[in-house]
Amino acid sequence: MAEFGEIDGNVLVAKSLAQFGVQHMFGVVGIPVTSLATRAVSLGIRFIAFHNEQSAGYAASAYGYLTSRPGVFLTVSGPGCVHGLAGLSNAAANTWPTVMISGSCNQSDSGRGDFQELDQIEAVKPFTKFSIKATHISQIPNCVAQVLHHAVSGRPGGCYLDLPSDVLHQNVSQSEAESLLIEAEKNRTKIHTENVTVEASKIEEAVSLLRRADRPLIVFGKGAAYARAEDQLKKLVETTGIPFLPTPMAKGLLPDTHRLAASAARSLAIGKCDVAVVIGARLNWLLHFGEPPKWSKDVKFVLVDVSEEEIELRKPFLGLVGDAKRVLEILNKEIKDDPFCLGSNHPWVEAICNKAKENTLKMEGQLGKDVVPFNFMTPMRIIRDAILELGGSPAPVVVSEGANTMDVGRAVLVQKEPRTRLDAGTWGTMGVGLGYCIAASVAYPDRLVVAVEGDSGFGFSAMEVETLVRYQLPVVVIVFNNGGVYGGDRRRPEEINGPHKEDPAPTSFVPNAGYHTMMEAFGGKGYLVGTPDELKSALSESFSARKPAVINVVIDPYAGAESGRLQHKN
Ligand code: ADP
Repeated sequence: MAEFGEIDGNVLVAKSLAQFGVQHMFGVVGIPVTSLATRAVSLGIRFIAFHNEQSAGYAASAYGYLTSRPGVFLTVSGPGCVHGLAGLSNAAANTWPTVMISGSCNQSDSGRGDFQELDQIEAVKPFTKFSIKATHISQIPNCVAQVLHHAVSGRPGGCYLDLPSDVLHQNVSQSEAESLLIEAEKNRTKIHTENVTVEASKIEEAVSLLRRADRPLIVFGKGAAYARAEDQLKKLVETTGIPFLPTPMAKGLLPDTHRLAASAARSLAIGKCDVAVVIGARLNWLLHFGEPPKWSKDVKFVLVDVSEEEIELRKPFLGLVGDAKRVLEILNKEIKDDPFCLGSNHPWVEAICNKAKENTLKMEGQLGKDVVPFNFMTPMRIIRDAILELGGSPAPVVVSEGANTMDVGRAVLVQKEPRTRLDAGTWGTMGVGLGYCIAASVAYPDRLVVAVEGDSGFGFSAMEVETLVRYQLPVVVIVFNNGGVYGGDRRRPEEINGPHKEDPAPTSFVPNAGYHTMMEAFGGKGYLVGTPDELKSALSESFSARKPAVINVVIDPYAGAESGRLQHKN
């Protein structure tokens, strides 16, 4: 117990977090961090308490992406920390600034089989760019300052702070705590923030490559979204007239409806471009490694990335290391001095625009028909139209996961504003859904959040519907219920044999599961829909109510397959 005029480690952590700008935390309380959470709340930090550290970690990582500030989540020791690794690893894979703070066992009992004992510093190693343990209360403010700094510095990522139980229960006088906080604040402002300047010759070369290209393309990813580079991208695209292609989560940096959007002509754009400026996106599986047959073997890549390591890995024709927004500002300035613009009758621009129109018409043909029982297309079109009907800004944040649901949603749903799409991301992580919804509604309180989830994806974090109700978050979760992973039981009779032939197929769930009743169980609104009219009415009511809702959309169990680009792997 802290004596009069003293505070303990829990209070000092909370004070440090508040002083260094943390406004929201996610997590699961328990031994030894319960008091830390309540102290944080009393200091003005909003603490969103989850059922599972996995979802809390996913929420923190998405919050980091959406706000460009560290997303912080709290776990208990041992198993809590292990569950939290899901969030940390997802943060690392997506390069999102995230800090996991975990309690750990008493230092003096370490190695003796203490309650929930684990070498947590070792456990987080593969998923963190920085980790630190406070071994004495006096180290707390500095540790908090450092971990928050490292999460956002350079290439963002996952960081970890370990707080042993004995340290949380140590005491210091109020005045000593104040001096420790002042000292940490001083060190914090001293920490050197990199301000990399790109060599002028490289900027000139990049512009000259674009100027001389016959078929240039601008590709941007969630690194550009994180950098809030939308204004600079718009300027680059609109002054040069070069078509652009966003990666899935970068959709909306420029509106999908922009005349130079090449998304609907993706194969042509990447297959035939001769110079591609890739901004804040890795040439990984999502971009086919930048290799043939999807890309031309002669394409010249200009990569813009905050990470030098990334540029070294990909060995592009030209690499520009730096913050996307800053590099684009310099590029735009260079272009302004000697402007060029392709114009809409340029053969490359015309080819892309025509192909995009043709493909869009084809898709609209498929979307136009009302198919009942629902396939994936019909309800997705209805959802798209309902979102568009909301009109105006701020647009809702769309969260999406699942195989078919995410694939179809990516093509059909229209994004018009930056950072309004969250999906399974670089790692193809399933189970992010509800955590991302909660993060989005906390980070952007004026936006509605609409989750478009496969039934399998939803199942990973479904219990967090209670969290939505508890905090009354404006989140509408739409579950595409086709009765399983990819769909229901589709085995041919000759495939059903062996001693466990009575068991359902590994891909199938209980048919016609009542997911909407989970939401009703906690006092939220549930809808079961199977026709276009029922879906339209549920969307209209739930979007205007802006209250937690689950819409259970019954889909034909025979609709759906593995994602096109991954089919060969399964
Ligand atoms: P996507 O999934 O959209 O293709 P990736 O996650 O593969 O995007 O790539 C994002 C890239 O953006 C990472 O390589 C990361 O280093 C980079 N990045 C992160 N922040 C910035 C920034 N501020 N400026 C430029 N690049 C950034």
